[in-house]
This record gives sequence, structure tokens and C-alpha cells, in this order.
Amino acid sequence: MTDLHINGVWVAAHDGAEREIICPADGTVFKKVDEAGPADAQAAIDAARSAFDSGWWTQISVIQRGAILERTGDLIEERLEEFAQAESMDTGKRIVEARYDIADSIRCLRYFAQLGPTFSGRSVDTGDSHIQSRVQYEPVGVAVLITPWNYPLLQAVWKVAPAIAAGCTFVLKPSELTPSTSIMFMQALVDAGLPPGVGNLVLGAGASIGETLTSSSKVDMVSFTGGLETGKRVMASAAATIKKVALELGGKNPNIIFADADLEAALDNALTAIFLHSGQVCSAGSRLIVEQSIHHSFLQEFVERAKKIRLGGPFDESAETGALISEAHRNKVHTFVEKGVSEGAELLCGGEIPEGPGYFYPPTILANCTTHMSCVQDESFGPVVTIETFTTEEQAIALANDTYYGLAGAVWTQDAGKSQRVANALRHGTIWINDFHPYVPQAEWGGFKQSGIGRELGPNGLLEYLEAKHVYHNTSPAPSGWFGA
Ligand code: NAP
Repeated sequence: MTDLHINGVWVAAHDGAEREIICPADGTVFKKVDEAGPADAQAAIDAARSAFDSGWWTQISVIQRGAILERTGDLIEERLEEFAQAESMDTGKRIVEARYDIADSIRCLRYFAQLGPTFSGRSVDTGDSHIQSRVQYEPVGVAVLITPWNYPLLQAVWKVAPAIAAGCTFVLKPSELTPSTSIMFMQALVDAGLPPGVGNLVLGAGASIGETLTSSSKVDMVSFTGGLETGKRVMASAAATIKKVALELGGKNPNIIFADADLEAALDNALTAIFLHSGQVCSAGSRLIVEQSIHHSFLQEFVERAKKIRLGGPFDESAETGALISEAHRNKVHTFVEKGVSEGAELLCGGEIPEGPGYFYPPTILANCTTHMSCVQDESFGPVVTIETFTTEEQAIALANDTYYGLAGAVWTQDAGKSQRVANALRHGTIWINDFHPYVPQAEWGGFKQSGIGRELGPNGLLEYLEAKHVYHNTSPAPSGWFGA
């Protein structure tokens, strides 16, 4: 079977290129996929452009487009275990986590299927009975959707579902490292009735096809999820033709623990906040900010529990978290830790590359940190957490906002007033009070500051793929008389 989907046909790469896919848990090559080059990316853009410009797709009712999303969700649900296994092999994540991710993806498809028909525009009261004025929503056009490797199917669904609900056509480019569930997703969309050309899939390295996709004048918008530096390149490339750009970038997410919190819940969730999926989560709680009076005992227990976390492959039932995505990424995380230590952070556990196959890296805790350190400011995207302390509410807020990112943060306290004050003061796109990580497809997701532009999920997640058009109808036209006859 060939793996690129262009204009309704599964094809191989124009130049016959292929890529080996490696399971991060043991470093073995377990499959090969076709690898698109610029010519394939261009063909995918052309197909999406003609499907959009022909007009028939946008004339298919939003109910029918929603039905395609519903059917796709059903088809994925029927093969949930197969999807989860493929996701685990590509990412190295535990099968249990992969099952959650696939179930979340299905929920997201169903949410946008239902949301689409609710966007009906609005009438505007101009105060003039001869004027009918309405705002209507129309699809942006051809959308290029670029996704990362940490939640491959989920990130693709967060973009594809609203794109289809809105009536856009699209070219999906997943990370070159984790293509499997994107291929399966595209097949499910086709089986659910997605017409040829509407959805196109190119697998290929961002370095070789990214520029073709993001700079093309035939593309109307780019929705990108990935790292900050790549995001800047994507935005610069899209700027040449003033494309609409949606960016979901990294995070350096504060997790504030007040002394009056339910400390057992806070402790347990502080571990999940950072070590879930070995820290390869954009909203990972990578900055633990603890009130000074409980700092010593809290940290002692946190370190003890972190040391006990069991690493293992996707199908190892005793494992609690998995490997990092690649050797290159593990080396990057390790260099990040070494730099933190050289800047004065105290290594309390982890920080060493283990022997053996797979790209594992242990839970790593850096204490005595201050905001000027690179390990506090920059994203490692690995299982590395920094510890800072505070004595007042104002200081906790100041620390948590002292970052160029602004994706997510949490506050733990049993004082409802304090939790609300802190939540309101934090400059991050999602705030959890007495929790960490949960999200729902009905609520917007995205970042303040350099964590991104725009929102995914929720009504605003659909609006990203829509243009608002104002139609102003004068039912009683007459000369304006502004200039003489
Ligand atoms: P990345 O290296 O920036 O890659 C993201 C995607 O961009 C991949 O598909 C990549 O392709 C592609 N790409 C690379 N160079 C490109 C270029 N010049 N033009 C266009 N596309 C290009 O990020 P990653 O390492 O996959 O993902 C980790 C990052 O994603 C972290 O910073 C994380 O915080 C962020 N993230 C954010 C969210 C959120 O919701 N805010 C969610 C998940 C992840 P290749 O893989 O082929 O290079």
C-alpha cells in the first residue's frame, strides 16, 4: 500500500523516496512509509485548491460534512485498538495512554460534527428598515495543517475536524516520525465519504516540504502545532502572502502549590503534570513553584516518588511512562539538564542517560532554581522539572508570569478566593485550579505570548477556519447625492 493521499488516490512519492519508522522504545525500524518531496506537496496543494475552487464541496451542507465526521469517529472507534497500537509503536507511549488519545480524538470529531451547524451567522440591526445586514461565515479556503509527534492522531483531529466542519479543503502534514495514525485517519475519512481532493495527506520532512506548503499562494491558511522556532519560520514564510496563521507552540507551564492545598492531591498531580508521557506534553507542568513553608517536606516526597517511576515500552504492563521520541531529542533533553546544572541548579534525581535499548530518560528534578536560568525559561519537552519557592501570593503570580511562554498553568489551594485571584492574574491560555492536564473539546485551547496565536477546540477553534463576511443589502436603493449629477 502507498501512503500519500493526493486528489483521492493513494500514491507513492514522485521520486520514490521512503522513510524508515523507528519505535522509540527499542530503537528498531518496524516499517517504511513513502516520503513526500516538494513535487508531492505541490500536487497536494493543487488538489486541495481545485476541490475548493470548484465550489461543490462548500455547497455540501454543513449537516452532511458533520455526518462525515461522525462516521469517521465511528470507524475509528471500531478499530480503536489498532489505532492505539499504531500510535504506541510510533511514539513509544504506553498503550493505555494511546487508548485515551484515540478515544479523545473520537470525542473531538463528534464535537465538531455537532458544532458546525450551530454557526449560522447573525443579522445586524442597522436602525434602517431599508437595510438588511447580516454577517455570514464562510470557509477560509485551502488549509495546510502541520502537526507534531507527541499526540499524532489527536493533533491531526484537532485541525482536520474543524477544517471539514467549516468547509475548507486541506493538506495534512504530520511529523515525519509518527505517520501511522494519520494514514489510518485519512483512510477512515475516505471510507466515511470525504470526496477526492478535499483531504490530502503528505508525509515528509518539514525541512524539505515545509516551505512549499507554507509559502504557496494557493494556500489560504496554515495551522501549525510544534516548537517555537519552527513556528517563527512558518509565520515568516506565510507572511509573504498574508495567509491566516494559527500557531500552537510550546509552553513552560507553572504549577503553583500553596501551603493550604490538599497536599496529597497536589503532590500526586505534580508528578503527573510533568512526568506523564515523559514530559513530552506542551502543557507539562515543568515549573513547580512551591510555598516556602512546605517546600522542604513537599520536595522530599516529590523526589522519592519521582525516583520510583517505572520506565518501559508500550506493552510493558509494569511501565508507568515511556521513552522519548528519538535519540536526537534525548540528547537535547540531556544537554538542557547539563546546562541547568552549570547555571547553578541542584540535580535531585535523574539527569543520566540510562544503558540499554530505547530512548529512555529518567524523571529529573532541578532544585534551587531562579527565573533567569535557561532551565526555568526554556522548554525541554522532556521529563525535567525545575523547583522555585515563594512566600506571598503576589510573588507566586510574578514568578508564574515571568516566562515568554503562556500556554497553561495550575494553582493548588483550598482558599477559593485566592484560587480565583491567581487564576485571573496568570497570563496563560488554560488555568487549572486543583487539577492538572484535563481539557474538554468544548473549551478553547491555546497560548498567550509566544505559546501561539489563535485557539483550537471550542467555538473559537472552528472560527479559525472561517471568514466572517458582511452582506449589506439596501432594499430601497436611491442616489446618494454626494456628488452633483
Ligand atoms: P517541530 O519540530 O516544530 O515540528 C512540528 C511540525 O512542523 C512537524 O510536522 C515538523 O515536521 C514540521 N516542520 C519542521 N520544520 C518545518 C518547516 N520549516 N516548515 C513547516 N513545517 C515544519 O515540533 P515537534 O518537535 O514535532 O513538537 C514538539 C513541540 O510542539 C513542542 O514545542 C511542543 O510544546 C509543541 N506542541 C504544542 C502543542 C500546543 O497545543 N500548543 C501541542 C503539542 C505540541 P518534521 O517532523 O518532519 O520535522
